[in-house]
Amino acid sequence: MKHKYAADCHNHSNCSPDGEHSPQAMADRAAALGLRVYTLTDHCECNEYEEKYRDRAAAAWEEMEKLRLPQGPEFLKGIELGQLTQNPGAAREVLATYAYDFAIGSLHNIRDRQDFYYMDCREKSREEIAGLLDEYWDEVLEMIDCGSFDSLGHLTYPLRYIQGEQGVQVDLERHSDKLDRIFRSLIDHEKALEVNSSGIFGKLGETMPGPGLLRRYYELGGRLLTFGSDAHCTESLAQGIDSAMDMAREAGFTQFTVYRQHRPVMLPLE
Ligand SMILES: [Zn+2]
Ligand SMILES: [Zn+2]
Repeated sequence: MKHKYAADCHNHSNCSPDGEHSPQAMADRAAALGLRVYTLTDHCECNEYEEKYRDRAAAAWEEMEKLRLPQGPEFLKGIELGQLTQNPGAAREVLATYAYDFAIGSLHNIRDRQDFYYMDCREKSREEIAGLLDEYWDEVLEMIDCGSFDSLGHLTYPLRYIQGEQGVQVDLERHSDKLDRIFRSLIDHEKALEVNSSGIFGKLGETMPGPGLLRRYYELGGRLLTFGSDAHCTESLAQGIDSAMDMAREAGFTQFTVYRQHRPVMLPLE
């Protein structure tokens, strides 16, 4: 890794339904890469908690407890909480049950709508797409008010599909008021913003959020920033973290954040 304090605080093992490799294989890879901090964050989709993810979270926790920690990275235990607005009780329960270091708050689908992964926006008008995004930002704002997380995951997740996969360009200028509200709310609630580097390698071609939004968060006073590759296999672990860190430096940041026991720890971006 180019950065001395490189950290990957968003990635998945096979304790997630879409993850390929064991927590041990992921941790060993983190050591081989020379990461300073490694936080594993398997999925817990709160809207499917009772039927599926309560058991999955228990199994993932057990796996993390059993890890033979390799020399090198500090290992921290995390979780990615999806749709916590749609079942806030699940988020509270899982956070009260296990002593995680870090929780990501993510929104993969708007309440009563499909995951953007399954949504075809090529047939929709610009107005409809703008309306969908507006609903998405509103639910993100609601999630920040809920508060049961440390860092906001992949803020521009819908763009990965609308713009990246389906080639429908979105003008984010039109959404600048709402995005400013999200940044201000994160700052007021002392929550971090995640820079998710996975978008660099897909058709979106940039981090989520991208450099423009990152600069805006900084301008508004945002300083808590976490980094994650969102890898689902060992090969992708920490991919794009060095360039995401360079981008953050260009936006003005001199430090970034990792979480221990839900407390922010600032590390130099060098
Ligand atoms: Zn996610
Ligand atoms: Zn993820």
